[in-house]
Amino acid sequence: MRMIATREQGGVEMWDVVVIGAGPAGSAAASMLAERGRRVLVLEREKFPRYHVGESMIPFTNVPLRRLGLIEKMQRSAFVRKFSVQFIQPNGRASQPFYFFTRYGSDIAQTWQVLRSEFDQILVDHARSRGVEVLEEVEVMSLLREGERVVGVRIRERSGDERDVRAVMTLDCTGKESFAAVRNGWRIRDPQLNKVAVWTYYESALRDEGIDAGATTVAFVPEKGWFWYIPQHGNRVSVGVVAEGKYLTRGGVKDARAIFEREIGENKWIEAHLAPGTQVGPHYLTSEYSFHSRHCGSEGLLLVGDAFCFLDPVFSSGLMLALKSGVAAADAVDAALESGDIAPCRFENYASNLRQGIENMRRLVYAFYAPGFSFKQVIDRHPELAADITDCLSGDVNKDFSRLWTAIREFVEIPDELPVGGPLVRAA
Ligand SMILES: Cc1cc2nc3c(=O)[nH]c(=O)nc-3n(C[C@H](O)[C@H](O)[C@H](O)COP(=O)(O)OP(=O)(O)OC[C@H]3O[C@@H](n4cnc5c(N)ncnc54)[C@H](O)[C@@H]3O)c2cc1C
Repeated sequence: MRMIATREQGGVEMWDVVVIGAGPAGSAAASMLAERGRRVLVLEREKFPRYHVGESMIPFTNVPLRRLGLIEKMQRSAFVRKFSVQFIQPNGRASQPFYFFTRYGSDIAQTWQVLRSEFDQILVDHARSRGVEVLEEVEVMSLLREGERVVGVRIRERSGDERDVRAVMTLDCTGKESFAAVRNGWRIRDPQLNKVAVWTYYESALRDEGIDAGATTVAFVPEKGWFWYIPQHGNRVSVGVVAEGKYLTRGGVKDARAIFEREIGENKWIEAHLAPGTQVGPHYLTSEYSFHSRHCGSEGLLLVGDAFCFLDPVFSSGLMLALKSGVAAADAVDAALESGDIAPCRFENYASNLRQGIENMRRLVYAFYAPGFSFKQVIDRHPELAADITDCLSGDVNKDFSRLWTAIREFVEIPDELPVGGPLVRAA
């Protein structure tokens, strides 16, 4: 067992935990650790509030939000309340909306559509209020190592000055850029989830009425492509299309705006809902290569949120996984610090719980994209499995869904678990 120092050492800044990135994963982990009295420093490259995509929550996002003590704040916020999700065929025909209250109690039955600049600011303010030190416009340049052990980071401040910050544990919460996984050669592309997303914002576009006003709509275009339509406060709608690159760029169209405008015509519901609106701001484009990290960390290092795994956004699982992993990482790191032993094997449960949830969600994503497949086929043949599909899509992902996978495999192939994610444990 190693004893851990948690104070200044010879004039060098020494933190219990340094967190790279103040997104949902980083702020959640930092808040929970500071609540337990840990000395936490968060380093964020951007100046907040900053723009970020990823605005629709699924119901079980409420669980980590409750652990963070943020449900009341969310209830008082201007964020649009989300009670349901609906699916629309290219001809404009809508499915019956799925209302979360038909399965869950009031603590889960409603969630939110957020503006990330505001939501992430709430999270970071919350962390500060619990005593976390947050430095903005500070970029982490490299990991500091002593032998195999990560002992902090080298940072570049806005002035251009560089200095070292040392910590017992370093949490990589850098999102899809996955700072440590890239540098360690741990990043593995998901074999088949390789989509492109193009999105923008509209003002005064159509909204459905009453309880449906905050619904997420998934509207299909050909070849298993889909639009998201996310109503936000301030009369805005976030709307984007996700599909295979070769479908979106057919006929040599490469420009984001041109791609987006052509796809509008591929779904009658999207066309009708956007018609009265005004497009605002840029058109964004990104490659959506889902990836996994071979390891969740090594001695002194733990990966959290998208930095550990980025999954195709079709089921809006990113915020739930980022917040959930932030809270879980804080539990695991706090226990390790308490025991004075930060050996990588202490993070095996953290990794296996997260991977279980990711793998369950990933199988649904694969099924969704399989040609000719629909969840309705499964429910028609196995009505008793409708609840399992709902639970997984709602974010209750750490359950045994083996009966569901057997049933889905009657229709399409879905992948086995990837044998990745455990901590890097080196031989003594
Ligand atoms: C097109 C698209 C649509 C999506 N839609 C949804 C959705 O509807 N619902 C949903 O739940 N999720 C969605 N997601 C996923 C969601 O955006 C992410 O899962 C979520 O933001 C992950 O949070 P995070 O804290 O792990 O990372 P991030 O939110 O990306 O935060 C990482 C932070 O780290 C900082 N950082 C990075 N590198 C450094 C460095 N070297 N030094 C200092 N700071 C650094 C960044 O500036 C950033 O602030 C979508 C994603 C995409 C791409």
